[in-house]
Amino acid sequence: MSVPAPTPTAGLLDRAASGERLSHPEIEALYALPLPDVAAVAHALRAERRDPAVVTFLIDRNINYTNICNVGCNFCAFYRTKRQKDSYTLDYEQISAKIRELEAVGGTRILLQGGVNPELGLEYYTGLLRHVKAHHPTIRIDAFSPEEVLFMEKAFGLTLDDLLDTLIDAGLDGLPGAGGEILEDDVRAKAAPARIRSADWFRIIDAAQRKGLYTIATMVIGFGETYAQRAAHLVKIREQQDRANREYGGNGFSGFAMWTLQTEHTRLAGKAPGATAHEYLQQLAVARIALDNVPNIQASWPAQGFKVAQAALYYGANDLGSTMLEENVVSAAGGHGRHNATVRELIRIAVDAGYTPAIRNSRFQIIEWPDVRAALHQQDANPERERAVGAAG
Ligand code: SF4
Repeated sequence: MSVPAPTPTAGLLDRAASGERLSHPEIEALYALPLPDVAAVAHALRAERRDPAVVTFLIDRNINYTNICNVGCNFCAFYRTKRQKDSYTLDYEQISAKIRELEAVGGTRILLQGGVNPELGLEYYTGLLRHVKAHHPTIRIDAFSPEEVLFMEKAFGLTLDDLLDTLIDAGLDGLPGAGGEILEDDVRAKAAPARIRSADWFRIIDAAQRKGLYTIATMVIGFGETYAQRAAHLVKIREQQDRANREYGGNGFSGFAMWTLQTEHTRLAGKAPGATAHEYLQQLAVARIALDNVPNIQASWPAQGFKVAQAALYYGANDLGSTMLEENVVSAAGGHGRHNATVRELIRIAVDAGYTPAIRNSRFQIIEWPDVRAALHQQDANPERERAVGAAG
């Protein structure tokens, strides 16, 4: 009697659970397995890699300093041309006013990102960084996506090293890894023909990590990409993290953030499939298993809503991202109608899911254990008051 050949997935989850690194085809094979089984392994790995009792989040604010952009991604409902009436570029005082609101609620970081505005000179960027450091010395500045950095490199005639040194000298603390989407150029070319290509995205992130800047890895699903392309994206992130661990003293991605494509009001409406909650949770669990060298995995509430984000804490996520206080990009294209979260709301999500909430900095170091009892009691005193902070921005 002949012995049946093993299936491609035989023993895969056992090997993943034991911490064995999976290959690209093995990661791809995870998508064919029952989600509860994949989630159980992801959750067990999360418990090994981060404190199993704790869920973290950051108090920060997104500030989009301009919505003028000449890249024109098909999935973006945020950008404007400079001739459109609602286009804007914020001046330094307008940005300061937003930071003062963040300081008032104990925030520690701004995420400063914009469109690619060809009208802005290098002095706008360096002046802005210097202004924020001078007037808000306790606020950390994580700013500019690789797309914006690529623009600056070309427009200002600087080498990447010189440009980053100039920005760091002016006050830059970190370079968020926005614009990762799917780092496979077939997917990128269809979704946004002028979008930064994956080689440039990694070239800029690599230089930032080499210079000691904070970065995170990002991913967006729902363009119609294949499982093989999603797995390839994760493998590239993992390889970059290996390089940073090996060559840059461990200054790799501080975390991984993944969300689902929102297409409302965009040219991809009705053309890209998007992703359901099931797909989102599946992708999160697969990412936790595949990214064995990225300890922090975020749940995304702006795209998926609070309830799915809470469930994500059992699919490999150990972090709720940040309060944001103001989010304009995902919300312009739909999302779940929430542009910000209060500290109390994130505490409640964590506590109700059975975790101890902790406030962190952008490097995922815990800086405060909030008073849970006081925060939850405050809910019913005036639930709208905290929300109004974000709405004012
Ligand atoms: S996603 Fe960014 S780069 Fe693309 S159009 Fe929108 S603002 Fe511009």
